[in-house]
Amino acid sequence: MRTPVTIIGAGLGGLTLARVLHVNGIAATVYEAEPSPTARSQGGMLDIHDYNGQIALQAAGLRDEFRDIILEGRQAMRILDPAGNVLFDKADDGTGGRPEVQRGELREILLGSLPAGTVRWGRKVTGVRPLGGGRHEVAFADGATVTTALLVGADGAWSRVRPLLSEATPEYTGTSFVETYLFDADAQHPATAKAIGGGSMLALAPGKGIQAHRESGGTLHTYVALRRSQGWFADVDFTAPAEAAARIAREFDGWTPELTALITDGDTAPILRPLYALPTGHRWDRVPGVTLLGDAAHLAAPNGEGANLAMLDGAELATALAAHPGDAEAALTAYEQAMFTRGTEAADADRIQELMFGDDAPHGLVAEFAGDR
Ligand SMILES: Cc1cc2nc3c(=O)[nH]c(=O)nc-3n(C[C@H](O)[C@H](O)[C@H](O)COP(=O)(O)OP(=O)(O)OC[C@H]3O[C@@H](n4cnc5c(N)ncnc54)[C@H](O)[C@@H]3O)c2cc1C
Repeated sequence: MRTPVTIIGAGLGGLTLARVLHVNGIAATVYEAEPSPTARSQGGMLDIHDYNGQIALQAAGLRDEFRDIILEGRQAMRILDPAGNVLFDKADDGTGGRPEVQRGELREILLGSLPAGTVRWGRKVTGVRPLGGGRHEVAFADGATVTTALLVGADGAWSRVRPLLSEATPEYTGTSFVETYLFDADAQHPATAKAIGGGSMLALAPGKGIQAHRESGGTLHTYVALRRSQGWFADVDFTAPAEAAARIAREFDGWTPELTALITDGDTAPILRPLYALPTGHRWDRVPGVTLLGDAAHLAAPNGEGANLAMLDGAELATALAAHPGDAEAALTAYEQAMFTRGTEAADADRIQELMFGDDAPHGLVAEFAGDR
């Protein structure tokens, strides 16, 4: 079977590409491994920046829909020390350029904006191979194949499309997150809810930190960060949630209980999320008929840019294809040159990680936010 633009992955990047192509009258098919839109919780909040994510939503013609899902007040930000002292506190006065939304709601808007049947669910790609002349064959786990003249890998960190372009693979960054949730926190955990405030809270020390976010409905969503080897985490038994939480909390001995409650009082089992990154500045020589976007192209340690960049990549790639009708190679060249530069500039992730968890933590980040650096 021959398809139009063939996109692998229905994350925010792949869906934005499909939507902006549709706005420009170009058909696309998105193949997604997950069996349905609701197969996996899309939990978590994203701040969508006026210099990348919001530009993509503008190109997608979805600004109004985006405005409707903004969670008011969530741009408030504070930094605490381990004793709970507030070192930096910025209220949300409604003028910030990074409004917060639930990732799942943003994905729903994009999915709802596509013609029926654009996304093919339950189509896990197992391999891709060049056929010559810029055409590729994509093979799926169910044994089916499609051939395409324009293939886009929007399939995230462990992209199956990336090997067509590059030998790079993600490497462990040295830091992992442990994810926890507290529900109905104002009623059930009032002291902790008060410490977090109305938006996001970072409590940092060298090599470790607790980052929490107030989501909708009084949910506190936490990433506990630890700079530890994967071997160290392998010794923590995450199949025994209470023991695992207690083991992680031990790393925060002496921290105020309002903060450690985010680890020990979780309403869900703690989930380990090791952080991987591609080499900074990852790029490749042009290969006819195929490109990458988002994490597949420039996976970095979380620095608040990844989803925003994936969406901007999708929008820019679609715009480039629309601007070069009949000359996909010219479009891919223009897109990749801009994307390589953008990915490198925004990947600033190593510096952010050092500010957050380096020897000077939390003071480096406080100075950064206060505009002293
Ligand atoms: C803990 C954590 C917190 C983060 N917080 C933020 C944040 O606050 N702000 C921010 O901007 N970014 C954040 N990020 C980064 C952000 O999540 C990613 O950069 C973003 O999701 C990348 O989008 P994408 O579309 O490129 O890939 P993904 O969102 O990974 O989507 C890829 C899609 O491809 C599908 N897929 C994968 N393999 C296959 C296959 N073989 N066949 C078919 N389909 C496949 C997947 O199921 C998925 O739907 C965070 C990341 C982590 C790990």
